[in-house]
Amino acid sequence: MNEYDSEVMAGLCEALGYFAAEKQEEANLILVNTCCVREKAENKVYGLLGRFRKLKQANPGLIIGVGGCMPQQKNLAREIKSRFPYVNFIFGPHTLFQLPQLIRRAYENKETIIAIQENPVEITEDKPVKRVHNVCAWTPITFGCNNFCTYCIVPYVRGRERSRQPEAILREIKQLVASGYKEITLLGQNVNSYGKDLPDKIDFAALLSRVCQIEELIRLRFLTSHPRDFHQRLIEEIARQPKVCEHIHLPVQAGNNKILKKMNRGYTREEYLALIKNLRQAIPQVAITTDLIVGFPGETNEDFLQTLDLVENVRFASAFTFVYSNRSGTPAAKMPDQVPAEIKKERIQTLIKIQNEITVAENQAEIGKTYQVLVEGRNEKNPSLLAGRTKTNKLVLFPARKDLTGELIQVKITATTLTHLAGVAQVTLV
Ligand code: SAH
Ligand code: SF4
Repeated sequence: MNEYDSEVMAGLCEALGYFAAEKQEEANLILVNTCCVREKAENKVYGLLGRFRKLKQANPGLIIGVGGCMPQQKNLAREIKSRFPYVNFIFGPHTLFQLPQLIRRAYENKETIIAIQENPVEITEDKPVKRVHNVCAWTPITFGCNNFCTYCIVPYVRGRERSRQPEAILREIKQLVASGYKEITLLGQNVNSYGKDLPDKIDFAALLSRVCQIEELIRLRFLTSHPRDFHQRLIEEIARQPKVCEHIHLPVQAGNNKILKKMNRGYTREEYLALIKNLRQAIPQVAITTDLIVGFPGETNEDFLQTLDLVENVRFASAFTFVYSNRSGTPAAKMPDQVPAEIKKERIQTLIKIQNEITVAENQAEIGKTYQVLVEGRNEKNPSLLAGRTKTNKLVLFPARKDLTGELIQVKITATTLTHLAGVAQVTLV
């Protein structure tokens, strides 16, 4: 979602006549798109803003703007202003579309402008988006979140869930495929609850079906799914639609019922495991990935062992693993029995080790199989290789002299690592 927001920021700037600078030192305008989901990301922003002091000294005409969800937190914009007075303006997710005016105002104002708005505005359609990739594109379908997981700051900084009108989503995707995009990823904090706030009766399964009717579209993905709202009707729709990729990112967060309840996730370990079973039965090729948090308040070693047990039981294709980060203003921040940093560190290391072993073994099992790969471009590190993804979202690298960006190629897997599959194309590529 943040990367998509960056594309919108770049699009708004481009519409004003800006273009990308080669280096920070050459820029007339620097925008920082922040994230406050974990403290680590916030600390990076402070470090970055500190380093900009020198750039501003060397180029006093430089305009610096700070956006994203971090300054949307209580009192945070004022803190950024006092610690980094050379920042020209501060905005949040609800004031993103004021960016052109803010840039203009920054040229006339000496003092830091704070443009933070408490509540979201109506969804803005038809905005300029400068997309980073040219084969795959993101299309948001919902903004905000209503789930209020007790550790998470997203509902506070991005507001309540708002669904985009289906017609607007379909129009955008049609335009994207007409201009050559092959793969679309529908975005939302919880895509499965799409449409609940709309007057017309449409749910996520119905939206998927309508998007799949767009003829030129080749592949469709979506992110993120919430186990609570993943109903049988949706599973059947995914299984029925050949364009929908066989990859489900299904964050479980923890494997222990007491912790899941304290997190307010709305499902039990048993319900999650039953959902995995149903998904695998209906979509045999499906790759399931997840998000996991260790060290949530009150998590004992036994609770943690249940998370490890779930990980070993499900065998996720891969996982994003996080150390619980205390976010001020969330219910979990005030819960008793916060887990000491040392223990959290030990637990995350154990979890990563086990998940990595599973990912390596699962990847190795792909050797000898042939997959359809959508080529996204050349591999940055080794440009003699093309890089693309299987429908199960595994990165595949294979040698080819011809640039096949945007094409579907059958690739036989010959070797694997933790992070990718390597293979050879099944046709002669000159
Ligand atoms: N809406 C999505 C993504 C939310 S943020 C979802 O529900 O899955 C992405 C991930 O960050 C979450 O899945 C969670 O694992 C992690 N996360 C969120 N808040 C966190 C916190 N306070 N500490 C550690 N990890 C957190
Ligand atoms: Fe945060 Fe939970 Fe919403 Fe995801 S579903 S954004 S973790 S509150």
